[in-house]
Amino acid sequence: MASTQLFWPVSHRDDDFWVCMSCLGEVFYRKVPMPDCPSCHGVSTYEGFSLEAIRDWGTEELIAKAVAAQQEAATLEPPIESSAPVEAAD
Ligand SMILES: [Zn+2]
Repeated sequence: MASTQLFWPVSHRDDDFWVCMSCLGEVFYRKVPMPDCPSCHGVSTYEGFSLEAIRDWGTEELIAKAVAAQQEAATLEPPIESSAPVEAAD
């Protein structure tokens, strides 16, 4: 049941946060889930927003998800690629 969620990368605009307008319960940073929303299974229900906009109308849960998604993206995609493997130190 727990198959790997696929994403479609989206990073061509300032509104980097993609919210499902159908369930308003899912938000992703610079990517949208495919083929559909993991919560409500709506297709093409995602619209881009800035974090500021989400803070304006989103629930606290949605805002927290947005912030977490941005931090996760920053962790997974370091801005500088290193040619040598780097071991994370605690
Ligand atoms: Zn949804």
